[in-house]
Amino acid sequence: MAIDFTFPPDVEEARLRMRAFVDDDVRPSEERLLAEAAGRADWRGELDRLRLRARELELWMPHMPPEWGGAGLGPSALAAVSAEAAKTRFGSYVINCFAPDEGNMHTLLHWGTDDQKNRYLKPLCEGTTRSCFAMTEPEVAGSDPTLMRTRGVPHGDEWVIDGHKWFISGARGASFAILLARTEDDPEVPQAATTAFIVDLPAEGWDVVRDVETMAGGHNHCEIRIEGLRVPDANVLGGRGQGHRLGQYRLGPARLAHCMRWLGQIETALDMMVARATGRYSHGSYLSEKQGIQWLISESAIELYQAKLMVLHAAYRIEHGLDFLTEVSMAKHHVATTLWNVVDRAVQVHGALGYSKDSPLADMLLQARWSRFADGADEIHKWRVAERVVEAWRRDGTTRAATGDLPL
Ligand SMILES: Cc1cc2nc3c(=O)[nH]c(=O)nc-3n(C[C@H](O)[C@H](O)[C@H](O)COP(=O)(O)OP(=O)(O)OC[C@H]3O[C@@H](n4cnc5c(N)ncnc54)[C@H](O)[C@@H]3O)c2cc1C
Repeated sequence: MAIDFTFPPDVEEARLRMRAFVDDDVRPSEERLLAEAAGRADWRGELDRLRLRARELELWMPHMPPEWGGAGLGPSALAAVSAEAAKTRFGSYVINCFAPDEGNMHTLLHWGTDDQKNRYLKPLCEGTTRSCFAMTEPEVAGSDPTLMRTRGVPHGDEWVIDGHKWFISGARGASFAILLARTEDDPEVPQAATTAFIVDLPAEGWDVVRDVETMAGGHNHCEIRIEGLRVPDANVLGGRGQGHRLGQYRLGPARLAHCMRWLGQIETALDMMVARATGRYSHGSYLSEKQGIQWLISESAIELYQAKLMVLHAAYRIEHGLDFLTEVSMAKHHVATTLWNVVDRAVQVHGALGYSKDSPLADMLLQARWSRFADGADEIHKWRVAERVVEAWRRDGTTRAATGDLPL
């Protein structure tokens, strides 16, 4: 039998190494990292110390090839270590495998010229710079990038770009942006209207208007006004009219990388739910002995089990060069919904404590909410899945190929 649900020993060892690093080093440093991120004077250098330790443990950039300083894990192994890293809020950041930089690294690696890789990818991999990815605009539906209005016009060996973006994660403090703008008036297909540009930051014509305050507070998701921004032609990334393709290329594996991190969060929420249910006593028994609570636990466990299988299978398909679009869409939709469901149930079982900031669940729930519409809304993924199911049925007379194409 070729089906084997175990990881090879080296991957399991990397997973356990990540788990120990999170437990022993990252989690105990959370308060200090928060203080450092907030610019408080009492802590300096905590992130550098942890990043050095991550390098020593060979956990630095698990997603990048060794020649770029990473651990060179494939998608399945990456799922194992990313889920462990995400059990603490700073884990993915410490190992330099977080959104949007992680997706930007893949994009530059695949689409960048040697010069672009040298100037932008190298420092990103060394952890000396951060970046952002600017696609979404307030005036048009982000779900349909063909509606994009930000516009780039060629002027000699430069482009002049005008437009408006928002929710650009990590924009403050980024050394460069990958910016998508409309450049073609009459493309063969609507998807070929946009081009990606690498923008050195800060730049004249790139104005960070504000950090958009979200229901979870301000987290450096910025609104940007772009007026007369000049970008050299050499900074076109991936070719003229290739912006949509590049965005989709970036988003496929990046969506799954989000799912990998969410698995860690879901497991944390379920662990907390069970710990609370087994220790809280009410009406003559522990909460874990009440059927109403058992259902919350079992539904969460079933959904998490499905989520893990879906992520592993989608990763397997990417790793083996198989078409992965349907599987990644299904996984993104299911894992995001499961994240929301399980954290919400954990809040329920914790009662007032779950609603309070004394527990991490409140923050986890607020963060979980965006997972259901960012990087493809639930409805868009369901629409795409349905399209492919119908297509498979028309082609093969059965929907089998569009349900994971499994040997069942
Ligand atoms: C925390 C966070 C970080 C983000 N980071 C970035 C970033 O770094 N860079 C960036 O460019 N963007 C970023 N975004 C934006 C994100 O990518 C968009 O929110 C997403 O693409 C959806 O676009 P929209 O918000 O314009 O919603 P819309 O496209 O207006 O959609 C709103 C809702 O309409 C429904 N809908 C839309 N189209 C359809 C359809 N065809 N069929 C059925 N229903 C539909 C869905 O329910 C959807 O949720 C971020 C967003 C968040 C919340």
